[in-house]
Amino acid sequence: MRIDVFTIFPELVSGFAAASLLGKAQSRGLLDIRAHDLRAETTDPHRTVDDSPFGGGAGMVLMPEPVFAAVEAVDPPRPLLLLDPGGRRFDQAMAHELAALDGFSLLCGRYENVDHRIREHLVDGEVSIGDYVLSGGEVAAMVILEAVGRLVPEVMGNRASVDEESFADGLLEYPHYTRPAEFRGWEVPDVLRSGDHGRVARWRRAQSLARTIRERPDLIEARGGLADEEREALAEHGLDDGSGRPALD
Ligand code: SAH
Repeated sequence: MRIDVFTIFPELVSGFAAASLLGKAQSRGLLDIRAHDLRAETTDPHRTVDDSPFGGGAGMVLMPEPVFAAVEAVDPPRPLLLLDPGGRRFDQAMAHELAALDGFSLLCGRYENVDHRIREHLVDGEVSIGDYVLSGGEVAAMVILEAVGRLVPEVMGNRASVDEESFADGLLEYPHYTRPAEFRGWEVPDVLRSGDHGRVARWRRAQSLARTIRERPDLIEARGGLADEEREALAEHGLDDGSGRPALD
C-alpha cells in the first residue's frame, strides 16, 4: 500500500514513518509512505506557500499554486484527503476502509486555512481527527498513518490482536494482565490462570461489555443495545448491565 503525504514539514512525517511498526513495514515492502514538500515546486527565493486573505482578517492562507503544483508533479494515489477540523470524523471504521485500498494521499493544511479552491477542485474529501484545532495537519496525518498502517495485512505479526481490540465489535477491549500474578497486593483474576479457555473467553466478553456500558454507553446504543445472551454473560459474572437493575448472581 502506498500513502503520500503533502506537507510543509516532510521531515516530520518521514521521521515518524521510519520509526517502529511503520518503519519495519516499509523495510519489509508492505507499506510505501512518501512525504512530499509543499514547497517543492515553488520558484521564488523564499519558497513562499502562504499569503494574506482576501477580505482581510487574521492569519495567512495556504496558496493554491504551490499546492496544486506539488500534487500534480507527483500524481499521487487517490483519494487525496485534506486534513481539516470540518472533515469526516476519523474512526476505526474509516481506518479499515482506508486499509482496504491500494493507496491514498493526505494533504496537511497550515496557517488560518487553505485556499478554498484546493478544497473544491483538488482534493477528493476531508478528514478530521476530532473536534479541536491543531496548528497543522501533520499530527493528524500521523494519527491516520499509524491507525491505518497497523491494519494492513501482515504489518502486525499477530493478526488476532487486531480482531479482538477496542472497536472491533463495537465494544471496548477487556482488561489485560501479565506477570506478576500479585503486585502490591492486587491479584490477577483467578479465571485468567485457570487454563480453561472457554471460561477465559466468557469472562473477557463480559468484561468487555461491562467496560463499554460504563465508559462508552453511546457505543452500546449504536449497536442496538444488549442481546439476551450478553445480559446473561454479564449476570453470570455479577456485572452491571447498565439497566439500573441489580446484577444477578
Ligand atoms: N481556521 C481553521 C483551522 C486551521 S488549523 C478552522 O477554523 O477550521 C490549520 C490546519 O491544521 C488545518 O488546515 C488542518 O489541515 C489542520 N487541522 C487542524 N485541526 C485539525 C483536526 N481536528 N483534524 C485534522 N486536521 C486538523
